[in-house]
Amino acid sequence: MIKTAIKTKAYAANGSGQELKSFEVQRREPGPSDILIDIKFCGVCHSDLHQVHNEWGISNFPMVPGHEITGIITKIGERVTRFKPGDRVGVGCMVDSCKECKSCKDGLEQYCEKRMVLTYNDIELDGKTPTYGGYSERITVHERFVVRIPDDMPLDKAAPLLCAGITTYSPLMHWKAGPGKAVAVVGLGGLGHMAVKLANAMGASVTAISRSANKKTDAIAMGAKEYLATSDSSAIEKAQERFDLIINTVSSAADMNTYLGMLKRDGVMVLVGAPSEALPVHPFSLIPKRRSLAGSTIGGMRETQEMLDFCGKHLIAADIELIPIDKINEAYKRLLKGDVRYRFVIDIASLK
Ligand code: NAP
Ligand code: ZN
Repeated sequence: MIKTAIKTKAYAANGSGQELKSFEVQRREPGPSDILIDIKFCGVCHSDLHQVHNEWGISNFPMVPGHEITGIITKIGERVTRFKPGDRVGVGCMVDSCKECKSCKDGLEQYCEKRMVLTYNDIELDGKTPTYGGYSERITVHERFVVRIPDDMPLDKAAPLLCAGITTYSPLMHWKAGPGKAVAVVGLGGLGHMAVKLANAMGASVTAISRSANKKTDAIAMGAKEYLATSDSSAIEKAQERFDLIINTVSSAADMNTYLGMLKRDGVMVLVGAPSEALPVHPFSLIPKRRSLAGSTIGGMRETQEMLDFCGKHLIAADIELIPIDKINEAYKRLLKGDVRYRFVIDIASLK
């Protein structure tokens, strides 16, 4: 099925914690159900940083990160029906799954019972071909894992929706954020700022929780009704038993008990942030108020399209800082310090 390969410029890390450098990957010519996409923009997710630094212990090198991809279709396979060349599209964190199990049939490919194939740092279902991500000129993807970008949404600001957007939209929907619900978002980075915008558009009353007071004006502009800086211990006290739902996007080890105490009776805190460390939970943070601690990963393809259409309708997109590819190593350093408002996006034209 793989005909000729297409030489593609990319940026890769050659080993754990190494700086990213110019690299070349091969993309397959589109098979019958494949789509070839000319990548225009790629967001920089904290997961890229975790994996380049091998913090989760699952990294393979050379690694071309990037799973917040937007671009234009240049070629389609003969069985592709939903898309045509010239369409504005996106690709997120996964590029394949078994497509047959109960989870895939339910539109929950991210929980595929065989396995989903991640956009990078993974192996295709053939068991041998490594996947390379969006810090590259183009990508070939099965049409099921391609979504449509709403007409009026700029491709650069849309890119972060493919991971940061869907990763927060999915738990907000699953745990029914909406009118009458008090939702808190912990961590105001790429995921957090999207969670604030989405939960507000869903009609929930949103509180942004950040470490300092620095992001207050921005958070209110994004739709937060309240802002809480955890550097202020009196603010934490006032927030006890206040929220129905907390979306926790924290990327490094933090005390979960502090946030669990902010849940009402029957409240749920959902971890989407994925630090490599264990996060100790005190039983009495959960027991007395029948609280739950949950987790969630990205979202299925149907829901990803639904999220994009929701964002199109509510005029929501990411707040971004556009960078050329040769600024990526500097961007990683800044991301580690929490110094980004609120997502770096690579202009892939700078790679060509
Ligand atoms: P990001 O832009 O770096 O934002 C993370 C935010 O977490 C920071 O801006 C900071 O917010 C807060 N934070 C970091 N360390 C903290 C600490 N020790 N205590 C309290 N707050 C802290 O990262 P991101 O791209 O949004 O990703 C966030 C996490 O989600 C990462 O771990 C990433 O791997 C994970 N992720 C998971 C999924 C999934 O499917 N579940 C998908 C994508 C990403 P303030 O400066 O506002 O305090
Ligand atoms: Zn991501």
